[in-house]
Amino acid sequence: MAWDGPIVTDSGGFQVFSMGHGTVADEIKGRAPSGSERAGRILAIEEQGVRYRSYRDGSERFMGPETSMEIQANLGSDLALVFDECTPFHVSREYTQRSTERTHRWLDRCLAWHAEHGPPGQLVYGIVQGGVHEDLRIESAQAVAARGTPGIAIGGSLGEEKAQMHEVVGWTTAVLPPERPRHLLGIGEIDDLVAGVAAGIDTFDCAMPTRLGRHGMALVPDPERRWRVDLTGARFKDSDEPLMEGCPCPACAVGWTRGYLRYMTKARELTAMRAITLHNLAFVERVVRRLREAIGAGTLAQESAALLGGAAP
Ligand SMILES: [Zn+2]
Repeated sequence: MAWDGPIVTDSGGFQVFSMGHGTVADEIKGRAPSGSERAGRILAIEEQGVRYRSYRDGSERFMGPETSMEIQANLGSDLALVFDECTPFHVSREYTQRSTERTHRWLDRCLAWHAEHGPPGQLVYGIVQGGVHEDLRIESAQAVAARGTPGIAIGGSLGEEKAQMHEVVGWTTAVLPPERPRHLLGIGEIDDLVAGVAAGIDTFDCAMPTRLGRHGMALVPDPERRWRVDLTGARFKDSDEPLMEGCPCPACAVGWTRGYLRYMTKARELTAMRAITLHNLAFVERVVRRLREAIGAGTLAQESAALLGGAAP
């Protein structure tokens, strides 16, 4: 990539298990699964690891804690995540419990491999699982905290709706050591960032800004419409409106109108996808920066309320 900034790699656990459960990503994002999405590609989830079929060529593959850590070591990431099973919402409490316990054993194997073979300077985050069950979340948070990893990530199904997600995150952060960074995996909607920061989350990752950008959706300060505008809409056909007034991102700075972005999006012009993606990333970065500065200034509650009320970041 020739990227000389910090690199974070996920363990592949979420990616493997999304293929199998089919619905993990949808559930975490709060969408209902379709029948075809339930068709799994996982062959077996065993103590050793997971056997699955490649989504590209159908060949059988294996990934376990050691495989994942080795791949992340070869990638040379600065921050690696341990291999975990990302349990979906629809599984039973009993399954979630057994899976979470296995994830803790996988955590130990990841750390053992890393202690011996990990690249110097690479940090490893443990991952809290436990589904939507308060006691399992708390147990998992305590178990992961006890391993002493330099940071802790929160993963897995956080519930069916946002209120439940905020509750699950709250249970978890309440028992995590305050001095260690907390990362919330796969969450990045604007209101979720605001709620996450209030709950004590330090970092996030999410495909939302780039995925939206590829589909002609731009982030704008419009909480009524989940902070997004669909630039493919016919009403923008001849629009001279800027994408977002005052936005310093490369797409807005060059002065492209919503009408022109719509034209390029409809023409499947890759420049439009890139421009809207850059805008969306810049938007999210400013939201998080404002929240970070508000923490320093002691004005997080006011800043959060302003952002949720539609203030431009
Ligand atoms: Zn912009």
